[in-house]
Order: sequence, then structure tokens, then C-alpha cells
Amino acid sequence: MTRPGGLWQNWSRTERVRPQRVEYPPTVAAVRRSVVAAAARGLPIKAVGAGHSFTGIAVSPGVLLELDDLSGLVSVDREQSRVRILAGTRLHRIPGLLAPYGLAMENLGDIDRQSIAGAISTGTHGTGSRFGGIATQIVGATLVTADGELLTVDDEENPELLPAVALGLGALGILVDVTIQCVPAFVVQAVERPEPLDDVLAHLEERFADADHFEFYWFPHTDVALTKTNTRLPADTLTAPQPLLARWVDDILVGNGVHQAVCSVGRTVPAAVPAINRLSAKVWGDRSFSDASHRVFATARGVRFREMEYAVPVDRLGDAFRGLQRVVAEHGRPIEFPVEVRTAAADDRWMSTAYGRASGYIAVHRYWRADPTAYFAAVEEVMRAHGGRPHWGKMHTQDAASLRALYPRFDDFVALRDRLDPQRRFRNAYLDRVLGG
Ligand SMILES: Cc1cc2nc3c(=O)[nH]c(=O)nc-3n(C[C@H](O)[C@H](O)[C@H](O)COP(=O)(O)OP(=O)(O)OC[C@H]3O[C@@H](n4cnc5c(N)ncnc54)[C@H](O)[C@@H]3O)c2cc1C
Repeated sequence: MTRPGGLWQNWSRTERVRPQRVEYPPTVAAVRRSVVAAAARGLPIKAVGAGHSFTGIAVSPGVLLELDDLSGLVSVDREQSRVRILAGTRLHRIPGLLAPYGLAMENLGDIDRQSIAGAISTGTHGTGSRFGGIATQIVGATLVTADGELLTVDDEENPELLPAVALGLGALGILVDVTIQCVPAFVVQAVERPEPLDDVLAHLEERFADADHFEFYWFPHTDVALTKTNTRLPADTLTAPQPLLARWVDDILVGNGVHQAVCSVGRTVPAAVPAINRLSAKVWGDRSFSDASHRVFATARGVRFREMEYAVPVDRLGDAFRGLQRVVAEHGRPIEFPVEVRTAAADDRWMSTAYGRASGYIAVHRYWRADPTAYFAAVEEVMRAHGGRPHWGKMHTQDAASLRALYPRFDDFVALRDRLDPQRRFRNAYLDRVLGG
């Protein structure tokens, strides 16, 4: 978010910068002019989406491009169920754009505030063992490269670059549009309920394999998991959505409101956290409803937090989770935030956390006013021991040397960056750290 006076800060308040210039290009031609002008001034340039990355990946000390005006539908290919949309389009706007064509995005993450370009550039994902992250839904893209030229990547032109450009960390150029492979609109039946954690862990593989979309939250210091099981149903299924008031009570009052209270109390009376977590686990979510897919996948997150998330090979998920439980047990202070566990199918995006391997994701959070350093460091050690790859948009301490060993196509990606951005116009400190300068 950019404020008058030029201060930009991310959602979690972990990063802030006062860019030298902030520009709001409304057209592709204007983006090209911005890139050329930045080069002439010798300034680095980066686009931001919604600033929802927890890392410094979007930090733009030179020219910051806000792409909110570069938003909306460009064209629809009804035969192939593909839509081309402008890169600044926020995810929550996409269902409305797709509705007239009876289409939907195949899968989504927990929230829909991000821009499509920001979400794919960091490997944003939801859950579902048969589904990839959002970047796997991209079948074409147009990029403004460092020389201000347009690079088209799709089935016909430069198809070999798609696996890099569709999850490019903002390092290869400015995306101006992307083409999404959609699916026919569908309904999702959701069942959310508290269950004994040990039962969930005992049947972890089946739980993830049997459902279209399964995930669970574990409330630290309790033996309860809140499970979410989503089943895909045809679009003409009669839905039973949550009544608005019930949804408000569950998501806003209980989900966010109670959680805000837990976090605030946790800061002053940490000893109370385990008891409050037990209470939260009981009252938070015991419901069943069905609705249009995007209304089930995405929820509101009102409590500000900081997050780290690692992807481990899916067959190591159980062991990695037990390692995390030991960290929580041994950590000096109570943890006020639930741990989230999800899965994704293997994919072919070079820098995807799920590149070449089916993945299990473990995400840990801390209230934004609490210091996450010690907890995250201990969890990171466990995840790294299991071959974990960190989410590009979430806090971690790895650098190019350690990441190179985790990604078989790392050097190919760096070589492409050398080719498309030899002068490092799109650099920032985070990219220097994770890709090398
Ligand atoms: C409350 C919350 C919930 C979240 N839930 C999930 C979740 O369920 N799953 C998950 O995987 N992640 C999740 N995240 C992380 C989030 O989805 C990612 O970090 C994502 O990058 C944020 O998108 P954004 O639009 O805010 O991008 P930003 O953070 O603004 O930017 C991210 C990167 O994209 C680049 N970029 C943006 N626009 C362009 C462009 N036009 N061209 C080239 N590069 C561009 C930026 O330069 C930067 O490198 C969550 C984050 C928050 C705060």
C-alpha cells in the first residue's frame, strides 16, 4: 500500500520503503514507457500487487509501479475456456469477469486480495493433492522486458519459457497480461469440524488423497485439528450457502474477532494462550455449507500476522509435522496462531515449491506484534531437514547458495534472468539474496 508521502509497506508490516517514484500506468504502452524511463534514469523498477507478500520480494526502492489501473478482461477464448486478463487484476474481481462465460479458476488460496500477477509470481497455492498452485493455471503471458520490448509467451510463441515466466518472482520483467486456463464453473461443498489431531495424523495420506481439497489447522498446545474438506460438485447443484449472519458470526466474529482477542491477551498474559487455543479450537468451525467455488475457497483475514511456509515432499509431511510439534512443545513461549497444513500436486514451473514433486505445505504464523524470529528459525530447521522449499512470498532465511540445491532448474532460471534482465533493472535486495546479484 502506498501512502501520500510515498511510504509503501506490505500487509504484514515486515517491509517498508520510500520509493523514488510511484507510477500508475493505465496501459501496456505506459508500462513500457515507465521501464524505458527508469532505465534512462538508472533506477531499478518493480511492479507490486497487493503487497501481501511477507518477504521483501515486492520492495521497490527505485520506481514502484502500482498496476491497479491495469486491470480487467482482455479477451475470452470460449472454445478453449481461456481468458486473457490484465496483470493488475485482483483475484476477487476474477469470478465476476468469468461468470458471464460460465467459467471459474480451478483452485484458489485462502484469500483473494492479491493481484493475479503477484499471486503467480510468488507461487501462491491453495490445497488439493490433484491440483497445482495458481501459476499452473497460466497458459500464456505478456511481459515487458528490461529494454521496454514486449515478450509473448504462449503455445505458439516461446512456449519453452512458460514454466519460468508463469512463476517469475518479479525478476524477469513486468507482466502486463496473463492467460488463465479456466474450468467450467463449479460448486464446492464444505465440511469444517474439529477432530482429534492424532486421528488426523494417523490417516494423513488418505485424508489428503480422498478429498478434492483437504486441509487442517492445528491449534498449538491442544490436541485438536480443525479439518476442512471440500468436494467439487457441478455448477447446477442446489447450493446451501451459509446465511450471511451465520457467516459473519463464524468468519468475522469467531474467526477474526476471537482470534484478535487471543493475540492481544497472548501478548500480555502468555500463560493464557493454551487455554484460549483450546476454546478457539472448540468454537471455531463446525459447519457444512455449499456455494460457488470462489466463495468457499477464499475467506477474510482480519487479524494481521507474519507467516513462514515450507513445502516438503508429501511423503515426509507427517514427520515434518511431528518435528514442528516438538518445536512448539520446547519453545519457551506459547504460540497463539494455528498451524496450517495443505498439499499440492507436482508441477513443472521451474521455481515452484512443488516443482517435480507432490508437496505437503506447513505454514506457521505469529501475531504481527509478536517477534517470530526464534519460533520461525526453529521450525525452519525442521523443514530444511526434510528437504523443504520456502514459499517465495513468506518469511525465510535461505539464500541463492542453499536454494540452488533445492531447485533442479535454478541455474536455468538465473540464465534466463541474465538474458532478459542483464542490467538487473528489476532487482531488489530480496532477489539479490535468493537468486544472487
Ligand atoms: C492474509 C494472507 C493470506 C495469504 N494466503 C496465502 C495462501 O493461501 N496461499 C499462498 O500460497 N500464499 C498466501 N499468501 C501469500 C500471498 O499470496 C503471496 O505472497 C502473493 O505474492 C501476494 O500477491 P500480491 O498481489 O500481494 O503480490 P506482491 O506481494 O505485491 O508482489 C509479489 C511479487 O510479485 C511481483 N509482481 C507483482 N505484480 C507484477 C507484475 N505485473 N509483473 C511482474 N511481477 C509482478 C512483485 O514484484 C513481487 O516480486 C497470503 C498472504 C496474506 C497476507
